[in-house]
Amino acid sequence: MPVKKQWIRCGDEPLWLFAAKQFERVCLFDRVVVVADEREIPYMRNFADYTFVPGGKERQDSLKNGLNATDSKYVLTADVARCCIDAECVKRVVDLAFEYDCIAPVIEVVDTTLLNDEWIDRQQVRLVQTPQLSNRELLLSAIEGDKLHTDDSTAMKSAGYRVTYVEGSKTQIKLTKKSDLSLFGCLIPPLSEQFTGIGFDTHSFEEGKPCVLGGVSIEGCDGFRAHSDGDVLLHSLIDAILGAAAIGDIGELFPDSDMRYSGIDSKHLFEEVFRFVSSVGFELVNLDITVIAEKPRLKNIKKDIQKNLSILSSLPLHRICVKATTAEKMGFVGRGEGVAVLSVANLKFYNWKES
Ligand code: MG
Repeated sequence: MPVKKQWIRCGDEPLWLFAAKQFERVCLFDRVVVVADEREIPYMRNFADYTFVPGGKERQDSLKNGLNATDSKYVLTADVARCCIDAECVKRVVDLAFEYDCIAPVIEVVDTTLLNDEWIDRQQVRLVQTPQLSNRELLLSAIEGDKLHTDDSTAMKSAGYRVTYVEGSKTQIKLTKKSDLSLFGCLIPPLSEQFTGIGFDTHSFEEGKPCVLGGVSIEGCDGFRAHSDGDVLLHSLIDAILGAAAIGDIGELFPDSDMRYSGIDSKHLFEEVFRFVSSVGFELVNLDITVIAEKPRLKNIKKDIQKNLSILSSLPLHRICVKATTAEKMGFVGRGEGVAVLSVANLKFYNWKES
């Protein structure tokens, strides 16, 4: 799946928000802390006024960052993969807050159970779920060392704190594989709306610099003055795609003050944006590009640009249009000082119901 599971859409909402809102309906929290990929946090702030904290290398590092972002006595930790919340189960966990250091829901195993091909008594087996409620300070001390724990209750138990288990819920299944999605009755299919973005960019010519447009090298024409390789077409297209997803603009993602992008092949910028937009739940629908230039003449190059964009975007040729026009000798483009490119991109949500 190109989409990260936390960004799968339920209607208009990403899964992480869908899960958080369900918890908010069950309990009155002082604060919701979302631990997430640092690169996604600026975009996540568009969705909710929560406290967003960068994740760490391991689950435990992420948990530590989240716990340090609040001073609450108790914390309820939940995994976005268990996004269908059973309110009764959450209440069973929260109700015991003052009696134990950690409360975790468990479910019984009803099927015949094998361990290394050997039958074991299933009555002895319990499956531990989230959400789990813990005393925050004790949980922080329980996960202090290097030993990795797969959940909070295991860490709390091995640190010697008072842990108890309550009846879990079979509806709180965990989303681990794409095929699991069909089991999630609570998930609403994504909206079928499309989102349009517009991108515009101009660059002046720079004598002697190689000319690259839409990732295609053009002989006999000067290139463009820029911090990067100056591919004005790809820059315009990147902004159209970012605009459709409401992520921001190219300058925010790749500031020209950052030396990593000095002279960079803009194809790499496009690839990074394409990966990001796909990972947060979008698919491209079509691209439409208009190059406004007196030179270079694009008549014989448009097809090459279209093919190159098809490779970069994984869209078929019939979903990509590259058009060229002049400025009728007017303005800076008309005087042949530079090139302007206007782009439109349409996106839709990745539809996990259909794909
Ligand atoms: Mg530019």
